[in-house]
Amino acid sequence: MSARDEYALALELLRMRAQQDFATWWAAKEQGRVTLEQLRAVFADITRDYGEVAASAAVDYLILERSLDESLAGLGFPDRADPVGFEQAVASFDWAVNTSREGGVLNSAVARRKLDGVLVRLVGAPAHETVVVNARRDGRAFARVPEPGACAFCLMLASRGAVYASRHTAGAADAGERFHDHCRCLVIECKRDGSDLPRINRDLEAAWAESGARNRAEFEKYIKLRGEVGGSPWPPLERVNVPEYAGDGTSKVFPGEPLPKDLNRAVAHVLYGWRDTPLKGGMWVKHSEDSRMGHTWDSQRAKASKFPKSWSNQKIADAVVEALENPTNALAYGQRREVWLAKEEVIIQVRYVIIRGQAKMLDAYPVDSIPKRARK
Ligand SMILES: [Zn+2]
Repeated sequence: MSARDEYALALELLRMRAQQDFATWWAAKEQGRVTLEQLRAVFADITRDYGEVAASAAVDYLILERSLDESLAGLGFPDRADPVGFEQAVASFDWAVNTSREGGVLNSAVARRKLDGVLVRLVGAPAHETVVVNARRDGRAFARVPEPGACAFCLMLASRGAVYASRHTAGAADAGERFHDHCRCLVIECKRDGSDLPRINRDLEAAWAESGARNRAEFEKYIKLRGEVGGSPWPPLERVNVPEYAGDGTSKVFPGEPLPKDLNRAVAHVLYGWRDTPLKGGMWVKHSEDSRMGHTWDSQRAKASKFPKSWSNQKIADAVVEALENPTNALAYGQRREVWLAKEEVIIQVRYVIIRGQAKMLDAYPVDSIPKRARK
């Protein structure tokens, strides 16, 4: 796992634990064991405690990220930003509670949801600040990586690419500073030329330029028009026929549930190794049908599992789509779906996720076995 991925995961876990912690106290309030006033103070404590750990996670991330680059060896130890103060925490708490009253009566569910969103923002804030402050201090740049399904506001800020002091792009600093409630975007450190930015940022930079938008509303319109959020579409495949589903595009094992629509994507990944992010080590897989970085027998990617030589690209493509639609075994946990198809001497595993009612493809490749817990 890259330093960035590890950091993203650490932040996500901290936010979740902060929310769980708060949920326990909220329940105590609902049962009358704790007053609203006490809960308010606890809320501030939680934002401080988890915020502190989040800021430390950002420091760890910077140390790890920088340790991989010799030219950064001389940089000093990163400073850790302070968690949000008591006043800011209780002010946000009061806002969430006061805007959740209907005719003087507190709508508990509404307040809870707002406070959950505030927690995500306040716990993450000192971590983001840590990255921004140190990037500035040490002459590096930072960028905002949008969460999957991010709103237009966050996509616009991510489209600013690498942000640093002497680069005057309108609103660029906001990329590291402005976060809405529930926002799970990540602030990363990067090179000033942006050459180590994730592909999503480059795509969004290009999209912003292409769009000619001057503000978020115009950009949002453009993104919607483009028909998808989170990266430009992959070029269509020409050397294989990307099969269509035999049925209506819903799963046989998860009745009524949609299957990934973009089969071009599934096939391009398994055959040629196309992806939206660079491989570990920073190498990009070209979106060309000459890339042999997938799971075919002649793949050049170290450690990739491979289909037998007797399986043509077309046969692999067909089997992946068959696995999605009519697998021999399946497993669901949370939003994740894993399906398997045993065909001849090969077991194909396909993974996807259900996000906001839509299926998004993760990956597909041959595996050695089907886990016992996967149902038939
Ligand atoms: Zn966001």
